[in-house]
Amino acid sequence: MRKYVIMGVQGSGKGTQSQLICEDLGLVHIAVGDIFRWHVRNHTKLGAQVRRIMNAGELVGDDMVESVVRNRLDDHDWNYGFVIDGFPRNGRQAEFFMESYDIDGVIHLELPEDEVRRRVLSRRLCPNCGMDYNLIADRPEQEGRCDICGHGLITRADDTPEALDARLRDYNEKTRPVLELFRRKEFVHDIDARPPADEVQAKIRAALNLPAYQARPTV
Ligand code: AMP
Repeated sequence: MRKYVIMGVQGSGKGTQSQLICEDLGLVHIAVGDIFRWHVRNHTKLGAQVRRIMNAGELVGDDMVESVVRNRLDDHDWNYGFVIDGFPRNGRQAEFFMESYDIDGVIHLELPEDEVRRRVLSRRLCPNCGMDYNLIADRPEQEGRCDICGHGLITRADDTPEALDARLRDYNEKTRPVLELFRRKEFVHDIDARPPADEVQAKIRAALNLPAYQARPTV
């Protein structure tokens, strides 16, 4: 059983790297932001409660976040372990998490702020299936259309310069201290997030002593 936390500023590639780790190791990717986005997209009661907060780039309240995480982990569909992404984001969430789950390591993706802005402002999302694109590194085959389902791509409501400022402020003030807390427990592996995704993945695997990435054979 392997249980990892992945941390890093917005646009550092947490989602992409988590998916690559999970793909051939049988781990489950738990992305708290994706769970909230699913609720907003599907107009659930929870979605209505978090929509405005998310669009402004602010953090959802801890009680709500903790219940979403607890419910998700209670599914117990993670026999081989999980990579949790976007959580914990402040001291209280970190305490809640460490009281309930032991973790094997924290992957910290490091990216300078000018690169964060460049990447985040060129990010696009498929509102239908949730697939993420980036106009710099990961363009869709047909401009403005999702490769998977063909739906028109949009900019995430919280990928505006104003919302990004709010999210970076929260990251620096609230999330960085969590990283220091984990660092004291010697969980943290710092990884340079600037190189191409496959190189970053190789560094993560080396740091965590995981087998090299094996791409799934295409049928
Ligand atoms: P992300 O995709 O991780 O950037 O998350 C998108 C948005 O979901 C954030 O800007 C927050 O509004 C909300 N969110 C996700 N994870 C958390 C968390 N751990 N604590 C509070 N809010 C969160």
